[in-house]
Amino acid sequence: MGNVDLHVHTTASDGAFSPLEVTSEAVAKGLEAIAITDHDTTAGIDAALRAARGTALEVIPGIELSAEQGSEEIHVLGYYLAYDDEVLNEKLLELCQARRRRARKMVELLAGLGMYLDWERVVEIAGDSSAFGRPHIAYALRERGYVTSFNEAFNRYIGRQGPAHVALLKLTPEEAIEMIVAADGLPALAHPWGQERFLPELVEVGLVGLEAYYPSYTIEQREFLAQLARKYDLIPTGGSDFHGHGGSMDGMLGRVAVPMESFQRLSALATKLTSSTGP
Ligand SMILES: [Zn+2]
Ligand SMILES: [Zn+2]
Repeated sequence: MGNVDLHVHTTASDGAFSPLEVTSEAVAKGLEAIAITDHDTTAGIDAALRAARGTALEVIPGIELSAEQGSEEIHVLGYYLAYDDEVLNEKLLELCQARRRRARKMVELLAGLGMYLDWERVVEIAGDSSAFGRPHIAYALRERGYVTSFNEAFNRYIGRQGPAHVALLKLTPEEAIEMIVAADGLPALAHPWGQERFLPELVEVGLVGLEAYYPSYTIEQREFLAQLARKYDLIPTGGSDFHGHGGSMDGMLGRVAVPMESFQRLSALATKLTSSTGP
């Protein structure tokens, strides 16, 4: 009996461990499969696939796209993604550039308020993050002594109501699903508790899975979501949403019990899709 973890972040987005480290840990733990689902980037996938070569671990190429409906943030996971797809990567690059332009504008607004941040330093703080933005600006503000905490940076300046806030144009959940489907991926709604009302429309545009097994969910919540998945004929997926921010590897990775059947259904569906669209 193995175990799978279908929601894992690496340093390619905001995780603390590299794709190699995460993959090695999954191998050491004897996991059967992990999905690398970094925020808005596929940059970690190659290294993870390489690290898993010759082991019993399957690395599923994935992603977690951020979308917005009204003022609500919605995350869409994509599994078995053709992660080198050109159109997909062009779109990801555009999203990344939009984030940079927005961050730059916020830095300008802060200067107008008398808080001068060095843009190069903000870029340096963000590093390779695919989620370039407010946390990095907040870090820079704190570093320069303009604020004493992240919360203060958000509450006074760069939060939604703040004088230096600039809105970020985000994908709609439908667009996120379409992007994943266009790259032969299988879209699943991430940590969907409280967002059940969006399901009918999302199923309509091609949603395949619903993340029922999530660390912060109670057994009752998981059962409710698994029921809901059945109702909409979705695969109840799950994972730890591993970020490794505690600074250590133990604990989270692979710790959420995901039914093997869910993984097998996803995998079978992916195989079916490739064989019907392949050459
Ligand atoms: Zn998420
Ligand atoms: Zn996540």
